[in-house]
Amino acid sequence: MSNPSPSSSRIAEILRAGQPDETVAVCGWVRTKRELKKFAFVEINDGSSMANLQVVLDPELPSYTDLLKQIQTGASVEIVGQLVESPAKGQRLEMKASNVTVVGESDGETYPLQKKRHSFEFLRTIAHLRSRTNTLGAVFRVRNAASNAIHEFFQERGFMWVHTPILTASDCEGAGEMLGVTSLDLANLPKTDKGAIDYGQDFFGKPAYLTVSGQLEAEVMAMAFSNVYTFGPTFRAENSNTSRHLAEFWMVEPEMAFCDLVGDMDLAEAFLKYIFSAVLEQCPEDMEFFNKRIDDTVLDRARNIIDSGFERVTYTKAIEILEKADRKFEYPVEWGTDLQSEHERYLAEEFFKKPTVVYDYPIGIKAFYMRANDDGKTVAAMDVLAPGIGEIIGGSQREERLDDLTKRIEAQGLDVADYWWYLDLRRYGSVPHAGFGLGFERLVQFLTGMGNIRDVIPFPRAPLSIDF
Ligand code: ATP
Ligand code: MN
Repeated sequence: MSNPSPSSSRIAEILRAGQPDETVAVCGWVRTKRELKKFAFVEINDGSSMANLQVVLDPELPSYTDLLKQIQTGASVEIVGQLVESPAKGQRLEMKASNVTVVGESDGETYPLQKKRHSFEFLRTIAHLRSRTNTLGAVFRVRNAASNAIHEFFQERGFMWVHTPILTASDCEGAGEMLGVTSLDLANLPKTDKGAIDYGQDFFGKPAYLTVSGQLEAEVMAMAFSNVYTFGPTFRAENSNTSRHLAEFWMVEPEMAFCDLVGDMDLAEAFLKYIFSAVLEQCPEDMEFFNKRIDDTVLDRARNIIDSGFERVTYTKAIEILEKADRKFEYPVEWGTDLQSEHERYLAEEFFKKPTVVYDYPIGIKAFYMRANDDGKTVAAMDVLAPGIGEIIGGSQREERLDDLTKRIEAQGLDVADYWWYLDLRRYGSVPHAGFGLGFERLVQFLTGMGNIRDVIPFPRAPLSIDF
């Protein structure tokens, strides 16, 4: 096996800008091989694009017969050859090989990715190979383009990327969905006099968890840098096996000082528009593919997001709309209860037919840090509901008044002492501020039309599922 050529080109670049007669080297994996009487065709993919490079192998090549035996589906190869105009439909160029090196062989018989459509369920059982399929390849290219666009969006606007901790002792949402982290010997737990677990002997000297959100720490950073964002992994012990929940997912959380709920909604809308435009521009072929093969509303939806304003409606108004809807919901609609996925989807998909921002939610169903409105009944919270997905963004203006915040922490049965540093932000130079959290995988689902969230992250973590 020789070392792959450092001067090899990426296939996307060759297909875009290559010229007939040019000699190039490519490295990639064999997708298919067709042997004809006079020559053989091999399709090579290197992950840079959905399209393969078609390579023509001539019997004149040294050890042609052996080579053909070695070149099986899944094998890795390095091929040097000349680009020629392709007589085949749908591709501008193909390559006439002059030198072929099989870098790593593959047993085409047992290779799990055969030339047929595999179900996404099956592909999840071979997560180590599924990125070599058209669909997952496209998903992860879009995921990359969206990640990059997120940084661009914020950096262009002067937001600072801040890194918030993954290990934490506080439950931001107070929702009790946290995964614990311990170095105690589970088979031999130290106990206190009262028989409880003695966390004093644990690694941090108190119970620790994987974070469910970086928001509280992002607020700290916003109180020094004005506008910040996080983009990192978050964890939730979600017991529900849904197509929209993972136990490990990536969250984007901007936080802005001197900002109210309207500014927050404006940012969320500008943000989604920016990401959709960027992905359409950078991954046109992948997006076409999703539209053709996964969900034929993907492109219309993307254009709709970019071109039209989002609907903005209060929670109270949304409840009125749902009450008047000429259809029966599984969960009853009643002021004061949280909107269920079916309600969210009715609003965005059927009633407004565009992304919908619902704001001013009942105080009783929202987290302690959301700012109380003057009506005494609602808080300055907002959710962005996406057609086909439901909630994609959850945000709020934060309670910046020390007394009100302290009371809210107490009312939710949390220990005020645990939040001493968070309350300090309200003691020393408090300002109105707001932010939101976007589930990155939900965004990728929304972009691509992929039905199951487990198919938009390379290695999904969910109940009873942590292989690879
Ligand atoms: P849901 O009601 O759908 O469970 P949530 O109210 O728990 O959402 P937030 O706490 O507001 O969600 O979290 C912010 C964002 O993170 C959500 O808008 C969603 O996009 C995303 N999100 C929340 N939970 C998950 C999860 N388990 N897997 C993937 N994304 C998630
Ligand atoms: Mn949830």
